[in-house]
Amino acid sequence: MQRQRTGDLKLIQELNRSIILDVIRKKGPISRSEIAKIIDLSPTTVTSAVYELIQEGLVYEDGVGVSNGGRKPVLLRFNPNNHTIIGLSISNSMVKIADMNLEGEALRKEIYPTYQYQGQEMVDHILEVVEQFLFKKADIDNCQGISVITPGIVDAQNGVITYNSKLKLYDVPLKSLIEERTHLPTYVDNDANALVLAESYFGSFSTYKDLLFITIGDGVGAGMMVNGSVFRGFMGSSGEFGHTTVVQDGVRCECGQTGCLENYVNWPAIYSKIVTGIMTKGRDTVITEMIDHNLNNIHPKVFVDAVNQDDELVMEIMEEVIRYLSIAIKNAVHLFNPEVVILSGDIIQNNVVLLEKMKTSVANQVIPILQDKINIQSTSLGPEFELLGTAAVIFHGKFKFQLS
Ligand SMILES: [Zn+2]
Repeated sequence: MQRQRTGDLKLIQELNRSIILDVIRKKGPISRSEIAKIIDLSPTTVTSAVYELIQEGLVYEDGVGVSNGGRKPVLLRFNPNNHTIIGLSISNSMVKIADMNLEGEALRKEIYPTYQYQGQEMVDHILEVVEQFLFKKADIDNCQGISVITPGIVDAQNGVITYNSKLKLYDVPLKSLIEERTHLPTYVDNDANALVLAESYFGSFSTYKDLLFITIGDGVGAGMMVNGSVFRGFMGSSGEFGHTTVVQDGVRCECGQTGCLENYVNWPAIYSKIVTGIMTKGRDTVITEMIDHNLNNIHPKVFVDAVNQDDELVMEIMEEVIRYLSIAIKNAVHLFNPEVVILSGDIIQNNVVLLEKMKTSVANQVIPILQDKINIQSTSLGPEFELLGTAAVIFHGKFKFQLS
């Protein structure tokens, strides 16, 4: 019994410490007494937790605040620079690895192609990238751990990639494989789950508790935050948004079914529609000039530039994307009633036209009470979104930051 109680006490102390650290991070510079007031803890508890946080270099004292009668209070700030974290982002085409401070700012970054590796070859490649990167890291002692994010289904609790059909990774225990090689605590999560966490920790949506985050790239996925926590589902496979049906008996999907959203709105689908428009139908488009008549130069940025020039062919293709995507978003909105739907991906970047049209299209399809509440925004994470995603996963796993 005694041991049980000591265990509980330790857990409570750790939780308090995390909450206090989170308040300092979000509201600093802040005094000990203000912290105690905000989270309703005794001043003694706050003082002893802050003492530990200062010892660990996570918090530092910085100046004094305004006195309300007595001594001027010492102010505390979060220190992101005494520790580092390693972030590893795996996509179908590249592996990005970076050494970061605790705010997800990259100190050193390397990008490797995936060389179309699949299965065991891909696992070996990932382990090799991590080992090579760490080999060049001098200050390994202050490293708080490694965070890996990847598309597909992930058992985050055990750090296992359960299912990634594009890279042919099935039941890969990546956490233990990396920990064996590096002896650093490792965290693994699905990329869309990581990005919804990142919006909450580092982005503009930190006060929202119900978020739907949709990624559109080669695949289409979603991360869901419900009442401040990532909603993972029974097997961690929640958010397989790309495999929701938008066309009955439609295009065959690699998942074995037909009519899945992914095949209508992902980049390969858009790319092939542009190519068909130009080559088969001989359509006139600003893209031909933009790509110097070389179809290999058609990238998502070209698509967005053409949208912003109101190009007829590209606008038609985008309308189709909106038509399919809005069906799926409408269904998700009815199920989850998110406060905001956040879209991310190269075709969303700088694409205000798409966001506006998407919002109108979804609003026109939902039940009346939701119509003027539809809020669709572009991600606030910026170009290094994957790295912020990895940082958010490690924050969540290690420091258990709470949402305010
Ligand atoms: Zn599918």
